[in-house]
Amino acid sequence: MKYSAFVAVLLLLLGLVSCSDSPGSEPGDRIVAVATTGMIADLVENIGGDLVAVTSLMGPGTDPHLYRASAGDVAALQNADIIFLNGLDLEAKMGDVLERMAGSRPVHAVAAHVPENRLLVNEEGVYDPHIWFDVELWQDAAVVVLDALQEFDPGNSEAYQANYAAYDSQLADLQVEVVESLSAIPGSSRVLITSHDAFNYFGRAYGFEVMGLQGISTVSEAGTRDIQNLADMIAERRIRAIFTESSVSDRNIKALQAAVESRSWDVRIGEELFSDAMGSAGTPEGTYLGMVRHNVRSIVEAFGE
Ligand SMILES: [Zn+2]
Repeated sequence: MKYSAFVAVLLLLLGLVSCSDSPGSEPGDRIVAVATTGMIADLVENIGGDLVAVTSLMGPGTDPHLYRASAGDVAALQNADIIFLNGLDLEAKMGDVLERMAGSRPVHAVAAHVPENRLLVNEEGVYDPHIWFDVELWQDAAVVVLDALQEFDPGNSEAYQANYAAYDSQLADLQVEVVESLSAIPGSSRVLITSHDAFNYFGRAYGFEVMGLQGISTVSEAGTRDIQNLADMIAERRIRAIFTESSVSDRNIKALQAAVESRSWDVRIGEELFSDAMGSAGTPEGTYLGMVRHNVRSIVEAFGE
């Protein structure tokens, strides 16, 4: 009896501790940050270093366009000192809950620093949220995280600045590496066809024509007409490869491949791309740098001999 009473008190205390909103209230005095996607969590981890404990709500293979906050997510958000999201309506089904959180703690959209004239807009006038595939735009996102952490925890401003500078130089190196790797692909082959329009910023930054079977949000389904049109184009232009994405079903891309085959042209499906989610934690693709490298390698290999 004594023991269970002790446990009850302990649980109560833990409950009280985890309900506290003040910064540095967690064991080890780390700032508790919650990010929506893995890419954003990775960015916060790199800039926050040991000073910040980061949780990502969306794991590998998760589609952010369709994702709804679970009860556990809401609890994690309520327990967070600071929250980071992509913005530009990437987290389309989480708008209400994120807005509610903004009343009681800082909530930052990492897309906020991207200059208006660098944002892409689709035919319906909707902003394309997939900014992470232009490494230079992701460098803008890093500035948002730096500013937010410095504002929240000015005492550790210099540490955040140093972490930021180190990571920003890795991003700058990545940008050079991506351009160099992709230069192996001849101009006529530079057409990137994927499950949904996640790669428009990639296309603009690195010189690819980009086509997705679904639009910039996976909320809209691709019709079979899109598949027939794309199949005509692929067969006519003798495009060698198309790609599936880790966070979207491969059904439509397989249907597209079959439709191209019926037009007497063989198009291969390249190695799966990480579009809206990173790979598993502990693998190279479980980091932003690794996912970008994986995608570039997959694209170069698919268009190679
Ligand atoms: Zn997407």
